[in-house]
Amino acid sequence: MHKFNTIVIGGGASGIIAAINAKRIGKDVVICEKMPRLGKKILVSGAGRCNISNRDLSASHYNPEARELVKSVFSRFGGDDIKKFFSKLGLKLCSEAGRLFPVTNQASSVLKVLEEELRNLKIPIEFDFEVNNIAGLARGFKVESKNGKSVSGDYVIITGGGKTYPSLGSDGSCYVLAGSFGHKIIEPVPSAVPLLVKDRFCHLLQGQKIQCIAKSVIDGRIKKEIKGELLFTKYGLSGTAVLDISEDISIAINRLGKKDVAVSIDMVPFIDGPELEEEIKNRLQKKGFAREDLMIGILPNKFSLVFRDLFKGASVKKIAEILRDKRFSIIGTRGWNEAEFTTGGIDTGEVKENTLESKLKKGVYFAGEIMNVNGERGGYNLAWAWASGFVAGLTE
Ligand SMILES: Cc1cc2nc3c(=O)[nH]c(=O)nc-3n(C[C@H](O)[C@H](O)[C@H](O)COP(=O)(O)OP(=O)(O)OC[C@H]3O[C@@H](n4cnc5c(N)ncnc54)[C@H](O)[C@@H]3O)c2cc1C
Repeated sequence: MHKFNTIVIGGGASGIIAAINAKRIGKDVVICEKMPRLGKKILVSGAGRCNISNRDLSASHYNPEARELVKSVFSRFGGDDIKKFFSKLGLKLCSEAGRLFPVTNQASSVLKVLEEELRNLKIPIEFDFEVNNIAGLARGFKVESKNGKSVSGDYVIITGGGKTYPSLGSDGSCYVLAGSFGHKIIEPVPSAVPLLVKDRFCHLLQGQKIQCIAKSVIDGRIKKEIKGELLFTKYGLSGTAVLDISEDISIAINRLGKKDVAVSIDMVPFIDGPELEEEIKNRLQKKGFAREDLMIGILPNKFSLVFRDLFKGASVKKIAEILRDKRFSIIGTRGWNEAEFTTGGIDTGEVKENTLESKLKKGVYFAGEIMNVNGERGGYNLAWAWASGFVAGLTE
């Protein structure tokens, strides 16, 4: 039976790059992918546009536990290397406020150039190969699939992703493989995920969008605040600002079982502190606005539906307070099918910083979202996938 040098488990962003890099430096490599095609998540990323990376890849954009690892990996394959890598494959990039996208605005262009390179390099791909066991051999490993196939090789790179969008392939099954070598898995929770709220406010305003400052408030303390878009939905809150503060909330609710979890919304961040009370006073007194119509021209007209009750009998100061700090008690998060990435995964303390080899099992490497490395939205998760895939592919 043919023995490969390197077996890559998973053909997503990190697995594809790992295989390309391994082959380019002369290794005999194979990809084992459970789905009938590669890179399904690349295709949906960035709402189909694929926000491939970011101009500023400093480690502060990642979770604190992962920063040393992230720094080490980007020092070997950083933002410029990612750009050069894709440019050499013929992919032209453009930047929007530091976020990098293909100029075609099509995620399919990204996958196409990667698939082309895999073909040029003649890298074999085993499709419909869902790995469910990695057996140790006297030298190397035998990687076995659920449907009875197997391949063997000297090194294994596990790049099976996290748990989001299981229909695209990554369902957490690779945590089990890592666990079989004794790896600790930090409990995965959905991140960049919409939030569940039981409040008539959301129900009445579903579909409405505003610019706001959203803050996560856990046990009465503000954890994070972001300026951006808020979208009311029939089940709660979404929009970029909410997705960007959802990580701490998801950890608090889904991992730590906390109950005192809220979001505070400043609905009028574009009006300065004292100006707001002036504006309200002026509207009530001089202009004679009805209370429900008080914010017309500032917030969407539909807000009248909620302001009628909310502002009833309230003083000017109280109205200003409501507009500045509308609290929503969070009762849960939407699930894996609506989360952009996974917070949690393989404990980064058990992975060698310079090579991404397991500290527990020689010859086993990791790359991508399977590790407890979570970047902010804005190209940070794909940047991590490319860079960690490149470094793991060296199997040093
Ligand atoms: C809707 C959405 C939008 C996103 N947009 C962006 C964005 O614009 N920018 C950004 O930076 N990040 C974005 N992300 C996150 C980013 O796409 C991921 O972090 C990244 O793709 C992870 O790459 P990966 O290779 O680690 O894992 P994946 O892409 O999940 O790949 C894992 C592969 O392993 C295969 N696999 C899993 N288990 C097995 C097994 N047991 N055997 C064999 N194969 C297996 C899977 O089928 C899959 O092909 C987005 C994510 C989502 C869901």
